[in-house]
Amino acid sequence: MNFSVLAGAMSKLEATSSRNAMVGIIAQLFSSLPPADVKLSVYLLQGRIAPSFKGIDVGLGERLVEEAVCKATGYSKKQVEKLYLKMGDLGTVAEELCAKKKQTSLFTQKLTIKKVYDTFYKIAVASGHGSQDLKISLLAELINNASPVEARYIARFPIGRLRLGIGDPTVLDALSFMRKGDKSDREYIEHAYNLLSDLGLIAFKYCKNPASLKDIGVQVFTPVRSALAERLPSAEEIIEKLGPCLVEAKYDGFRLQCHKKDGKVEIFSRRMERMTDMLPEIVNAIKNELKCEEAIFEGEALAYNENTGEFYPFQQTITRKRKHGVQKKAAEMPLKLFAFDILYLDGENLMGLPLRKRREALESLISKSNSGVMRISEGYIVKTACQIEQHFNDFISRGLEGLMAKDLNAPYIAGARKFAWIKLKRSYKGELSDTIDIAIVGYYAGKGSRAKFGFGGVLGAVYDSHDDMFRTIAKVGSGFSEEQMQSLRRILSKIKVKSPNPRVDSIIKPTYWVEPRYVITVKADEITKSPLHTCGKVGDEPGYALRFPRMVGEMREDKRPEDATTVDEIIDMYKSQKYVREN
Ligand code: AMP
Repeated sequence: MNFSVLAGAMSKLEATSSRNAMVGIIAQLFSSLPPADVKLSVYLLQGRIAPSFKGIDVGLGERLVEEAVCKATGYSKKQVEKLYLKMGDLGTVAEELCAKKKQTSLFTQKLTIKKVYDTFYKIAVASGHGSQDLKISLLAELINNASPVEARYIARFPIGRLRLGIGDPTVLDALSFMRKGDKSDREYIEHAYNLLSDLGLIAFKYCKNPASLKDIGVQVFTPVRSALAERLPSAEEIIEKLGPCLVEAKYDGFRLQCHKKDGKVEIFSRRMERMTDMLPEIVNAIKNELKCEEAIFEGEALAYNENTGEFYPFQQTITRKRKHGVQKKAAEMPLKLFAFDILYLDGENLMGLPLRKRREALESLISKSNSGVMRISEGYIVKTACQIEQHFNDFISRGLEGLMAKDLNAPYIAGARKFAWIKLKRSYKGELSDTIDIAIVGYYAGKGSRAKFGFGGVLGAVYDSHDDMFRTIAKVGSGFSEEQMQSLRRILSKIKVKSPNPRVDSIIKPTYWVEPRYVITVKADEITKSPLHTCGKVGDEPGYALRFPRMVGEMREDKRPEDATTVDEIIDMYKSQKYVREN
């Protein structure tokens, strides 16, 4: 199918302000395409060419895209740069220059979705001597053959700035709408997606034969979407909900999903990004210490002081997330892996088994000597709230975040936040000791002493999983280092949008809106009611806001905006905070 169909839909998506309309536009697009093109369009709409676990990124720098625009349109570097400075968006520059192209090419071909996709794929995998020139030529060829509106998206794509903000739930809804005219198939499609983590492939299978999604199982080296935890404020409430349960230490490190087969190991992050090359000691341990041939299991890796038994904070562990100097850093700060669940073992899918059985299987694989890199997470079966509290206090005193309580009878629930796992962190006294992850939906131009940074703070939102919307909860103006202010301005200015993304619900207007893409962690003193914020707001009633919010740590690159704290969690935290105050 011609690329103009996809570019037309992108342009409509950019102009809409309603999430429902967004779903409708995508559903209509899908219904006009053959399954193979739906697959490619799912990737392209989300600004990628493959699911994140494949680790294939186009990732071209702006300079190279500028060069490709020059080459395709015949305008000079100076002219392109000048226009870019004025317009702030290379897509619009390419569009304008294509419309009044200086050189008319003799052979222009109509672009197809497949041609555009294949070219971006070639650009992504080109490496070695001469690859830079090849990338520029490939991109220039696309722009040369593009209509102005096609050029807008072709130029934006390789620098990761489509500015459409389309999350997985939007695509899942659109697929269901395409066939059913409503959301009734969403859960069915999502279940398959949770096992396969490749939305393009799922879309393809669903378009071809919806019934085929039933046959999808787990596959080694294809990550399963991680189970997520709910939160409750007290040990009593946990016992009330779960009865006797397993409590485990809650480690604050990298969540890893590890896959092993035929002597090979792959490791994926919670966002399903490939992390294998960053963690050599963990790869070796899985090869040599894990007593099985094939497995998919999960654990938390963190820096740990063997001598003192002290767990290092996340800020230390995160320094291991790097592409260069991996071996040196691994020697300086080796990690331990605390395994806590297993999904697949030697040909058998264990996801449907109750946790108690999965834990037994996991224990049989890992030595109890506590001398290797692989450990089993510390866990105890408890029957009373008092026992939970004792373990909780013990974990906290050893530098851990709190605990995870788990339903011993529950299966592994991929991709969902169900009450099979419940986290308990320190109680809410004086300040909220639990942090909140917010998605940035806008930012402020700096005033006064901040003018020189061009950054005054961000407008933050939490995620409403009921309707896939981002609802604001705070303006965050403190906690940033000077370096962070500079880097936030740089990063955010690249994803500015003229009006709020249709998935953003806000009464407040920041200086600049941005596509919801980045997550930061904030601490606050309290959750209060506020008429200005839309988190939890119903009709004329006030919503919820954070009092004295400040950023802590670094940008949360391990979280997608949909992984931000949810509106439901905020409401629970608000209630439990009242509970603490009144008691
Ligand atoms: P949070 O990120 O606060 O929502 O907490 C959930 C995260 O805690 C999981 O994604 C894991 O990365 C981490 N975690 C730490 N210890 C455990 C454990 N014993 N079981 C499950 N998850 C754990």
